[in-house]
Amino acid sequence: MAPSMLFKKKSNKKQHAPPSSSSIQSLPRDLLLEMLISVTSQSFVDFYNMKLCCRDFLEIAEEEEKYVLQKVSINQFPLIQWFPNKKELSFLTRCMESGNIESLFREGFIKYFSYPNGNISGFERLKTAAQKGHKEAIYIYGMILLCSKNYESRKEGLKHMRSLRRLKCIMITRKKVEYLTGSLWKNNDLLTRNETPLCDSKDTCKGWRVKKNKWLLLNDEDDDIESCEACRWDHELEFFYKLFNI
Ligand SMILES: [Zn+2]
Repeated sequence: MAPSMLFKKKSNKKQHAPPSSSSIQSLPRDLLLEMLISVTSQSFVDFYNMKLCCRDFLEIAEEEEKYVLQKVSINQFPLIQWFPNKKELSFLTRCMESGNIESLFREGFIKYFSYPNGNISGFERLKTAAQKGHKEAIYIYGMILLCSKNYESRKEGLKHMRSLRRLKCIMITRKKVEYLTGSLWKNNDLLTRNETPLCDSKDTCKGWRVKKNKWLLLNDEDDDIESCEACRWDHELEFFYKLFNI
């Protein structure tokens, strides 16, 4: 969907809002709020549709706007708003001000990887989004730490990557990150290659690579937790370096 079309129907909301049905009116307010959150956390378009279709949802959305906007999905917006209109910009700003985690992640991502110098303030935003459980933030933050030449930072990075591995969601997360990097200029000064592998005996280690007899890691079922963990993350680092041309 073109960004300029995203808010097309909002101006007509009052004309189209039908009276609330008695069945919805009979539901407790907390339940209605949870229904609203549940739907809008998947799609912001549905956030607007729900407000249009039922006066109760409209009232709750307005009364609890900050809470709802914290949870609403903004994934349908491009990472970088090249030609934002006022309504889109206002909506995204309100999401950011409400503490929306995806907004926080995106701001950190764009800042940290801004070209040509990068902005270190993005690192703190990525860290905060990671601590709040945002998976792409955990991946990016964890991998940046693994790139570090500082031993403690690398250890911290391992913790984050392990948490994603336990959830078996590294592959899907890295695909989302890969998609987002398509909007960026690559290769700034903040992220550099660490030539020291995590595996102390990389040349002789019969680790994950040899056991699986391939470097391809197509899904999380291929991620063999019995093999050398350090080799596993060295492999992920190679992917990460390639992703950012470093
Ligand atoms: Zn190894």
